[in-house]
Amino acid sequence: MQKDRTGILYVVATPIGNLQDITLRAIEVLKSVDRIAAEDTRHTGPLLKHYSIAKPMLSLHEFNEREQLKIVLECIAQGESIALISDAGTPLISDPGFPLLREAKARGIKVVPIPGPCAAITALSAAGLPTDRFTFEGFLPAKPEARRHRLLRLLHEPRTMVFYEAPHRLLAALEAMRDVFGPERKAAVARELTKLHESILTASLQMLAERYASQAAEQRGEIVILVEGIEEKTSKTKEVIPEEVLDILLKTLPVKQAVALASEITGERKNVLYEMALAKKK
Ligand code: SAM
Repeated sequence: MQKDRTGILYVVATPIGNLQDITLRAIEVLKSVDRIAAEDTRHTGPLLKHYSIAKPMLSLHEFNEREQLKIVLECIAQGESIALISDAGTPLISDPGFPLLREAKARGIKVVPIPGPCAAITALSAAGLPTDRFTFEGFLPAKPEARRHRLLRLLHEPRTMVFYEAPHRLLAALEAMRDVFGPERKAAVARELTKLHESILTASLQMLAERYASQAAEQRGEIVILVEGIEEKTSKTKEVIPEEVLDILLKTLPVKQAVALASEITGERKNVLYEMALAKKK
């Protein structure tokens, strides 16, 4: 039966491990909507069962999102209210939902966020790194060269950087970060947040890389890596940024000479500058 009003799209955060981490409002909304759009309906089953929520579900994941969003929007146009949830945490944060949200907004549909857990924010809240300014970087590229280039672009980032990482890439990511940001840069690895084997280690990148190299059993579970930003200069004179110096020198000099001079002027390591130069030439 067609209802005479457009429905609402709720974006509902769910636990990132511990089933208790769900808000009263999230439970109330999940019980009140007509349908739940879930990333993996089988994965969501136990959560809904735990809270005695029985609702029709439709699947909306990375690979069917563009098709499924039409169905979701049609249901809302028919007056149904829909809750969007992902496998864990806040939808759209390294999770599906963005195309649906963009389209819902374009159509003037009311979107209501129901806040709750997010691994990035949970890790930040307990890592002991600066939280006044931070940047969420999501997942790094899996291939070593692309990962290193992404990190090189963050070399002068003054804000705390937050990364999601797969367990089998934890060590490679820490080693790449150590090589790019330097061994002394402070960082944290937050594993299995809110779960039985939760651990949050804050130390230099060198120490973290050594620790996980020697503890293969800890290269498991779900992981957030945080890296402190570079210290910002307080001097009033213009800051010397190696990448900018390199850019200027590359205009007139061959790569090798530009790199050598940029290294002398800025104190930046030659191998870092060399990779920057190569990336620019590509
Ligand atoms: N939407 C989720 C959120 O709000 O955090 C993130 C989904 S993303 C597909 C999954 C990644 O989030 C994991 O690979 C891991 O990096 C991070 N993550 C999720 N749950 C976590 C947990 N309990 N502890 C540590 N990291 C977690």
